[in-house]
Amino acid sequence: MLGYDRDKEAKALVVNEEEAKIVRLIFELYLQKQSTLEVAKELNARGVRTKRHIYKDRTCGDRPFVKKSVGDIINNYTYIGKVKYAGEVYDGVHKGIVSPHVFARAQKIMGENHVHRGTIKNTKGTTLLKHILWCGHCKTRMVPTYAAKKNIKYRYYVCYKAQSTGYESCPVRSVNAQFMENFVVEKVGAIINQTPEWKGKNLIINTPAWDVLYPQERRRVLNLLVRAIVYEHDAKKISIEFNSEGIEELQKELADAL
Ligand SMILES: [Zn+2]
Repeated sequence: MLGYDRDKEAKALVVNEEEAKIVRLIFELYLQKQSTLEVAKELNARGVRTKRHIYKDRTCGDRPFVKKSVGDIINNYTYIGKVKYAGEVYDGVHKGIVSPHVFARAQKIMGENHVHRGTIKNTKGTTLLKHILWCGHCKTRMVPTYAAKKNIKYRYYVCYKAQSTGYESCPVRSVNAQFMENFVVEKVGAIINQTPEWKGKNLIINTPAWDVLYPQERRRVLNLLVRAIVYEHDAKKISIEFNSEGIEELQKELADAL
């Protein structure tokens, strides 16, 4: 992440002072220009590039900024020493590099811009596998839900039929959302990497780019890659049906964006 290096032993983020300067510059420019696109143009004019990093022996990043890469920085709570997880903000163990005051102003501008364009979305309600996860036993969709125990929120996907007609009818019932989402992302990424026609096409999933996508954008990308995920509880199997037209569409979109 721009502004930090990862200390592998301590598993912690350490401030990279040179990059921290760029991060602060990005926030400063955003307060002035109030537009992620304008900030991206300015950074590119100054020759600033996105962070270069190695992922699975491949070099990623080191590209000109686009609207989205600027937006992701402005929205990143890491820069004030916090961690955002499942819609909630927690204190992190790393140091912030942007003042909370500047961050709050930038967030406010970002919020106003979103409202003006009418694109504000409830990210808390964005669950990755909504629409594509199916109960293999009942042949119905599994829907996102959560349960709170001792103030901790647990997310699940429950079989819609079981939820609506009683849990006795379904051996699948529910599955931990985080587990299922991680599993699907890794599995889809791995299969894509093993499939000659898709391999090396950089289809985002399970790459560093994936980690910085907005939740709704992740869901959109996954929906292009995959038509259905069927959870067969009895057979202890998860089958994935790929969406080849969607994959083509995504490839085209990514090529156009370059
Ligand atoms: Zn079911």
